[in-house]
Amino acid sequence: MFKKILIANRGEIALRVQRACRELGIQTVVVYSEADREAKYVRLADEAVCIGPAPSAQSYLHMPAIISAAEVTDAEAIHPGYGFLSENADFAERVEKSGFAFIGPRPDSIRLMGDKVSAKQAMIRSGVPCVPGSEGALPDDPREITRIARSVGYPVIIKAAGGGGGRGMRVVHTEAALINAVTMTRSEAGAAFGNPAVYIEKFLLQPRHIEIQVLADTHGNALWLGERDCSMQRRHQKILEEAPAPGIPRRLIERIGARCADACKKIGYRGAGTFEFLYENGEFYFIEMNTRVQVEHPVTELITGIDIVVEQIRIAAGEKLTVRQRGVQFNGHAIECRINAEDPYKFTPSPGRITVWHTPGGPGVRVDSHAYANYFVPPNYDSMIGKIIVHGATREQAIARMRIALSEMVVDGILTNIPLHRELMVDARFIEGGTSIHYLEEYLAARHPA
Ligand code: ADP
Repeated sequence: MFKKILIANRGEIALRVQRACRELGIQTVVVYSEADREAKYVRLADEAVCIGPAPSAQSYLHMPAIISAAEVTDAEAIHPGYGFLSENADFAERVEKSGFAFIGPRPDSIRLMGDKVSAKQAMIRSGVPCVPGSEGALPDDPREITRIARSVGYPVIIKAAGGGGGRGMRVVHTEAALINAVTMTRSEAGAAFGNPAVYIEKFLLQPRHIEIQVLADTHGNALWLGERDCSMQRRHQKILEEAPAPGIPRRLIERIGARCADACKKIGYRGAGTFEFLYENGEFYFIEMNTRVQVEHPVTELITGIDIVVEQIRIAAGEKLTVRQRGVQFNGHAIECRINAEDPYKFTPSPGRITVWHTPGGPGVRVDSHAYANYFVPPNYDSMIGKIIVHGATREQAIARMRIALSEMVVDGILTNIPLHRELMVDARFIEGGTSIHYLEEYLAARHPA
């Protein structure tokens, strides 16, 4: 096992990884930008290295500074968290070439999955069902593009091979709008992602977002740890996740889960990962794979009792998975609410100093957050300042516990989206379960008529 790990991230995930390291008896090095100097988790770490000024490009995305920090502190491995450099194959490669273990997949797996066209092709080869669409990147010939779109059937969605974060997509309803949409998406994708390749998919009308968590070791073992329903999204950003997904027959989940674990073996995947699917009319359609730990990993931890971050570290150290698929048990129901520093009605960011911070507790309640009273939320990064995760024997109990937890939580000094979560916990459609990826936007539109 490693003696010392460098955590190349910030905020709640930097603290989460630090806790896993401490549990394993591993020393921690955190890197921080000047904007995060006063953060409590920086002080909790065994060592801390300032890697630059507030802007991410000069700190959390600055590869040479992170690698030098690992060198001067004699760390053996680097955990990238999520976001920032976590899905950057060049970074993973530089980490390994510099003699450190990268706590994540092999660089070539990150590269394969980072390009949505090659990811989809790999999934088709591995027997994972995908959204019907073009076989690869679209050709140049407009007649050929028109033929492909016709065979897929309208509406279609044009997606950039290099897209991410909900960007680089355009829905097309009629043939008349097709070629112009392809041209625009291509030029945007070229500018934003440095890769103009685009492909076509059937646009699904009322899908749910269901994802499968996997873990794979370097000894040929792979497990799937159940699903998460992440359909509550605003502008393609998840705000609330739960496991299991309400109303989906277990045999369908088991079938898709087994396919995902098989695909990991086929592509030689290593570490934690997530296969994201759209689910509609009883069918799963792969859309992309995330080759890192995700924000919503705790809901899976609460229903399986498996510590995903600890497993990531063990796998990177070359250990075998200790659990077999048969040993993965699913217990009860878990829900996560992401707490964002933002206006709960207008959704504008609300950075600043937190004056009052009271977190909830009690049975089945977990709070993953780096914030505290007098903590200053810097304006430079993502607005998420923590997560409340609850577990209950049933979905009803989990919802009741989340309601109580949200009622106990007090944050002053900045605005947060807690009022929105409180509303959702008493919303009839949420309570019923199984809403589509459009539900939250529809809910918000009805709440605030334009
Ligand atoms: P990104 O990497 O930018 O997150 P994804 O491929 O994961 O892109 O898609 C993001 C979101 O866009 C999905 O969660 C879904 O809301 C929507 N979307 C993507 N593909 C389709 C599709 N074929 N039909 C309907 N909605 C889609």
